[in-house]
Amino acid sequence: MSQKGILRPGHVCIRVMDMNQAVKHYTDHLGLIETDRDDQGRVYLKGWDEYDWFSVVLRETQEAGMDFMAFKVRDRVALDSLEKDLKAFGCTVERLPAGELKHCGERVRFDSPAGHYFELYADKDYYGNEVGITNPEAFVDGIKGMGTHRFDHCLLYGDELDGSVKLFRDVLGFDITERVLDGDVMVGAFMACSNKAHDVVIIRHPEPGKLHHVSFLLDSWEEVLRAGDIISKYDLALDIGPTRHGITRGKSIYFFDPSGNRNEIFAGGSTWYPDHPTVTWNAEKLGKAIFYHDRQLNENFLSVVT
Ligand code: FE
Repeated sequence: MSQKGILRPGHVCIRVMDMNQAVKHYTDHLGLIETDRDDQGRVYLKGWDEYDWFSVVLRETQEAGMDFMAFKVRDRVALDSLEKDLKAFGCTVERLPAGELKHCGERVRFDSPAGHYFELYADKDYYGNEVGITNPEAFVDGIKGMGTHRFDHCLLYGDELDGSVKLFRDVLGFDITERVLDGDVMVGAFMACSNKAHDVVIIRHPEPGKLHHVSFLLDSWEEVLRAGDIISKYDLALDIGPTRHGITRGKSIYFFDPSGNRNEIFAGGSTWYPDHPTVTWNAEKLGKAIFYHDRQLNENFLSVVT
């Protein structure tokens, strides 16, 4: 939990251009479970090991990308306090009523210097994971595709990186776990509100408000390799991998949903504690930082965003 009471990534709302194709992709291939739909046509999904009602919302529209990413906070006292701090920082803040997203309490939505919208909320209905909380089994039968466990993080591209880093660090209490420097200029910030390697990442980019990828957790390198088999079996659009990152040390594959939004499956990142020093990568080592095995950047990976 961050020092300001933020627990973890809670949900992401992804824009898709064909809902039927998108639902098939996120359920049959990634293995998410559909938990509800609403009268706006939005579809709610969760991983099999998540307790709350949803972590992914799909919204059908003309243009791919991310509407917003949300973080769950400790309680309503923390929500009210953070709302005040966000306004004092200069964010445009909007309160959305409970039920605007089904099963979710009041949300505080705010803009950010790099052009992304984020939300905070304290309450969401409990759904339960697929193995229960009394003498649970270690895995579940019948989960489809890659069987991803949960929504893990987003990596975002935007222009005013320094402002967004200040917002996450000073207002929301995130730690910078790793960073990429080009000379003295920060070009990438990996940030955590938990003891994960990252909960959100922002990379400096000329256009504001872009989504680079939404990442889902797997348990092991073996599960990552099996996900690679599924990507080939069903001819999903592969970006790169299986590989390992230098930054975070995670094992990974990047691929695309049918609307062109990049997905990642991710396993085994390093552990963060608040007294750890921030790890620095120099821009000339970026190939190794991102793709530890190939040590070469892929032009698609740097330029394709939604
Ligand atoms: Fe990632």
